[in-house]
Amino acid sequence: MKLSELKEGEVGIIIKVKGHGNFRKRIIEMGFVRGKEIKVIRYAPLKDPIEYQIMGYEVSLRKSEADLIEVERKNGYIKPDPDQNEVSLLDSQEGFRERIKEKTHTINVALVGNPNCGKTTLFNIITGSAEHVGNYGGVTVDAKKGKTKRFGYTFEITDLPGTYSLTTYSPEEVYVRHYLLYEFPDVIINVVDASNLERNLYLTTQLIDMNIPVVIALNMYDELQRSGDKLDYEALGELMGCPIVPTIAATNFGIDKLLKTVIEVYENINSVIRPVKINYGAEIEDAIEELIKIIDISENKQFTNIISPRFIAVKLLEKDRDMYDSVKMFSNGGEIIQLANKLISKIEKETHEDTDILIADARYGFISGALAETYQQSNVDKYQTTKFIDSIVTNKYLGFLIFFVFLWLMFESTFKLGQYPVEWLDALVTWTGDIVSKLIPPGMLQDLLVNGIIGGVGSVLVFLPNILILFFFIAIMEDTGYMARVAFIMDKLMHKIGLHGKSFIPLLMGFGCNVPAIMATRTIENRTDRLLTMLINPFMSCSARLTVYILILGTFFPNYAGIALLGIYSLGILVAIISAILFKKTLFKKHESPFVMELPPYRLPTLRVLGKDIWNQAKQYLQKMGGVILIATILIWALENFPRPKEFEVAYQEQKQQIELRYDSLMKAQPGRSVVFQQERDSILDMLKFRYAEKLQEQSYIARLGRFFEPVMKPLGFDWKMTVAAIAGISAKEIVVSTMGVLFNTDKDKSLSENLREAKYTQGKRKGQLIFTVPVAIAFIVFILLYSPCVATMAAIAGESGSWKWSIFQLVYSLIIAWLLSFLALRIAQLFI
Ligand code: GDP
Ligand code: MG
Repeated sequence: MKLSELKEGEVGIIIKVKGHGNFRKRIIEMGFVRGKEIKVIRYAPLKDPIEYQIMGYEVSLRKSEADLIEVERKNGYIKPDPDQNEVSLLDSQEGFRERIKEKTHTINVALVGNPNCGKTTLFNIITGSAEHVGNYGGVTVDAKKGKTKRFGYTFEITDLPGTYSLTTYSPEEVYVRHYLLYEFPDVIINVVDASNLERNLYLTTQLIDMNIPVVIALNMYDELQRSGDKLDYEALGELMGCPIVPTIAATNFGIDKLLKTVIEVYENINSVIRPVKINYGAEIEDAIEELIKIIDISENKQFTNIISPRFIAVKLLEKDRDMYDSVKMFSNGGEIIQLANKLISKIEKETHEDTDILIADARYGFISGALAETYQQSNVDKYQTTKFIDSIVTNKYLGFLIFFVFLWLMFESTFKLGQYPVEWLDALVTWTGDIVSKLIPPGMLQDLLVNGIIGGVGSVLVFLPNILILFFFIAIMEDTGYMARVAFIMDKLMHKIGLHGKSFIPLLMGFGCNVPAIMATRTIENRTDRLLTMLINPFMSCSARLTVYILILGTFFPNYAGIALLGIYSLGILVAIISAILFKKTLFKKHESPFVMELPPYRLPTLRVLGKDIWNQAKQYLQKMGGVILIATILIWALENFPRPKEFEVAYQEQKQQIELRYDSLMKAQPGRSVVFQQERDSILDMLKFRYAEKLQEQSYIARLGRFFEPVMKPLGFDWKMTVAAIAGISAKEIVVSTMGVLFNTDKDKSLSENLREAKYTQGKRKGQLIFTVPVAIAFIVFILLYSPCVATMAAIAGESGSWKWSIFQLVYSLIIAWLLSFLALRIAQLFI
């Protein structure tokens, strides 16, 4: 609770003091130290100020100051309940002490740094979690929280989005700045990429202005060492007023030291930390001073206790819109803004330079100065290898060739390498089904387990290897930095469709899963470009759809599967491109935003990171199977097996009995041929049972549902079972396959592929004809590629665009496109095949 919430006469224990450095320092110097007792003496008539007693002294605080002090109330334990005996009183005091200890030993830590400097890797290694890392900007778009206990302290760590700066141009920057200012992390870990110091330290200079406790994690220290450069990081830390700890997040090096330093800073016993002023040059400094004079007045205390007045002044001079808005709430906000504007135009007239540029230059000046004293670059050009590789992979012609060879390799491996483990898993699923059939007597339960759950979930499980291989390639692309190159070479092409290279990464990520891909569009500053990228993302065929292709291609085109996969994905891309052009021409007006395309140095991905990435995907896939896919298969099974009209059962039993009776008498009459008769009888009974099952299925709820939609899908060559599979797939695309596993697996002794090849119409005009002809199989694949995004993707689009309008738009649009192209594919295929 806040200190200001304690009532007169109550006693509390101080947990922590919030606010920026100078404020904290002043309050702590007054005796408000963590763990100390404080008593409320009295409130002034208007409740402000409040008089307190601490360490024998009486001090008075404003309410706005008391708001920033966190305490734990103690009174309950001092005046014990009369009913309570002494032992439990002691206990509760013990409990209270424990709680205070726990609270004062909990450190809130925020990870701040440029994109791609290793924050998430660091986060994962500290908290033991497994967030996604990648070698390009914008993987972390949300704050992730994790907890860990070390050295007697609880660390509550937040992984913030990567930013280059704390001005407010992008949503990430606003987010990070507000987090730092208003969530009051106790210590900030500023993660700095040691192989790119100059640019990374720019952000640090802004943290210095904010006057908040910072520890620098000098990450990628291995790269600094490898390059042969020498950095006296201790001296640099002294210069900047924050301790620097070298780390290699990928191998756990330096992490203990880092956490110990965080504790030191938290306990105010670190000797390096001190407020440093960056010198912005005479003109700006004079202006800052003038501004502070009217900002730092007692009426504004509620703001200036939280945000350092110097930071406010600097941001105003930088023309930071967000800060202008904040200042409007100050008691003399209008006056401050007026003065700031006056000072800006005065400086700009004098120097012929924009003030924000002057400030940025001064920051770089500060960094160069600090580095000149502490940093020795070796003669070897550390980016030489990077430059050499870049000259090849970003070459105008070679670049594309390499990329397409890479894609081909990716799809070929996905299919070919995946084949063997798929066969093993398939055998495992069949074997499990057999065992269960033997253990459980025939009937509804056996049918639910074997045909419903094992058949349905099993048909999805078998594709796990393919999906892991695909994710392996995507992880390699991300972790090495190749993906950034691909974005780079695609930039020009992307401009042609009204987008730019930055949109390419979310699109490529869409091959894995559209949901994180849509979240990754947050790195695109321009809103219409962002929306556009989101809307075409579902045409990037995700790995869930891969299960359908592999099933169908493996069944009907086993020899061309690799190249066919490339074709399918290309069709998706083509549709995305055409849609983008179409949307840009009709929905969105043109609006260009120039920006830098970054090329981070190449990195050899560590096996650990790769392994974790892939393991995460496997885990998610398995969880999906245990959850939504399991439920869906049970549901589909139930819809398929009900209703069960009594007449059918009676008729079946009657016919069965008749046949048995007839063969019994035949066998009695001609005992010599009884073996032949027995065989004949069994095959007839099998046939009867099959017919019975078929008849039941034909009038089941699911068949009725399928038939209801069948007319719409008939022109595409779909029967009701395919229709149902497509509808069920809207919840998650893997469910297309699991549904087909339940509906088409009529003959349990054969594989799903064989059953698909032999499936025939049992009713209507086409009775007896094959359901899956080659053209129909193609049309089906095209439809599954393009139709409706899954529910999770629609939710992501709604969340990111701020309204369901766009999800619904995407749904309708993609259904129309899917239907039309699927129809076209069927007709064209029929002409040739
Ligand atoms: P973030 O954008 O700051 O969250 O960065 P990530 O944690 O996603 O890391 C970006 C890339 O750098 C990944 O490929 C990591 O494997 C790699 N990486 C992280 N820390 C280190 C390190 O200390 N040394 C090296 N060589 N690579 C690292
Ligand atoms: Mg990250």
